[in-house]
Amino acid sequence: MADPQFDPDLPLRWTPAAQDKLLEIMSTGMDPKVWYCQHPGRDCDGEPHDQYDYRHARSDQWPPSLLDDWMFWFMLSGRGGGKTKAGAEWVRNMTRYTPRLAIVAPTASDLRDVMIEGESGILRCCEAAGYLPHWEPSKKRITFPNGAIAIGYTAEEPDRLRGRNDGAAWCDEAAHYPNVEYVWDMLMYGLRMGQRPRVAITTTPTPSPWLKSMITDALSRVVVVPTFANEANLAPAFIKQMREKYAGTRQGRQELYGEILDDVEGALWHDAILESTRRRTTPLMIRTVVAVDPAGTSTKRSDETGIIVMGLGVDGHLYVLSDHSGKYTPLEWAQEVKAAYDLFRCDLVVAETNYGGEMVTSNLRTNLGHFARVLEVNSRRGKLIRAEPVYGLFEQDRAHLAGYFPELESQLCSWVPGSGNSPDRLDALVHAAHSLISLDSASSIAVAHGRMPTRGGRPGGGHYQDLKKMLTGVMGR
Ligand SMILES: [Zn+2]
Repeated sequence: MADPQFDPDLPLRWTPAAQDKLLEIMSTGMDPKVWYCQHPGRDCDGEPHDQYDYRHARSDQWPPSLLDDWMFWFMLSGRGGGKTKAGAEWVRNMTRYTPRLAIVAPTASDLRDVMIEGESGILRCCEAAGYLPHWEPSKKRITFPNGAIAIGYTAEEPDRLRGRNDGAAWCDEAAHYPNVEYVWDMLMYGLRMGQRPRVAITTTPTPSPWLKSMITDALSRVVVVPTFANEANLAPAFIKQMREKYAGTRQGRQELYGEILDDVEGALWHDAILESTRRRTTPLMIRTVVAVDPAGTSTKRSDETGIIVMGLGVDGHLYVLSDHSGKYTPLEWAQEVKAAYDLFRCDLVVAETNYGGEMVTSNLRTNLGHFARVLEVNSRRGKLIRAEPVYGLFEQDRAHLAGYFPELESQLCSWVPGSGNSPDRLDALVHAAHSLISLDSASSIAVAHGRMPTRGGRPGGGHYQDLKKMLTGVMGR
């Protein structure tokens, strides 16, 4: 109950010396506000109850008991699942057990803006509990009231992790460190304090080999937390946006439910290669194209029209820039192509005309105006043969997704060559790539590379020379 006599701002009018004295008394005398309640049966939804008259940890945000012999606590969380709060509160709690901690972020801005100064970060958590730490950004150092010290590190500078002596660590988004194995090795060398050092890893998962092997370690404890478990703390607009973007997609199982996706048996693309080649920024584009695979132009079941914008950068790499695919009427997809063409100042429209070619071209002509260049492609034969060299560019780290395209990624990673289906977004991507790369480089890439149809079950297994000939034929168009 609020006390009408109590003025929380009163100390602000005291002399600085008196304020300092108060802070000193508070920091030494006050018990941190408890984040992990003592709910019977250890099953709590985090809503206020009993003496915990504030929101606190849900059971799925609790670390495993410190009485158990574990070393790695993996909290695999959907986006917005409350992992930052869980990690920050864990750090606050662990300062009571070890005087030295490491906190590791993907980048310096993640460290500062999310883990430390963020709205669910360490400073806010400690302040809310009256456990006021001293933060020195230049030294990346947090000193807690009891003298415990946490130092911040980033995956960008893993060598700074050398020569430490810590008793606990918190790694945020570890599955997204590009060099996670090296960072992890550096971190492990410095975890030497106490009987059993502990590491909390809070991350949205990726299907990385590192994560897959770590979660099976005997010293690991894993909890999976979906986005919606934290719905009470999330803005309705965020929930709506996440649902619209990911509901029903394969990628949604990862981004919303924290699942580690398995590769689809026999699929050409897989998550790891998309993840490792993904770029957040792009160089200048020499040439951009928009490719369209209109609905109903082949024997596909879905009636989506694939519309993909792709560019050739000054570095000679291909970049998927935008995905405008969707369910459209002919007029709508032509307008969508026109919008993408204008927005990205494209040089060319690539249109699949397998079925109903005249209709496709006249529809584009009517809507694009006279100056647009339209290249018709007809890919009735050899879908795999057209897709393989494009995959090869990804494998060589010469083709990239510039950003995140959940539906496209879902199609890429679940398309099994020879399975008969023919996903529109994938088709559009393949057409776009072929219109941007030259025949010679593409055929040499395809032949030089190991991942050709020699795997079991793939059509056309092992016929490299035939393939080369066919590539020349198909791509010479
Ligand atoms: Zn509780």
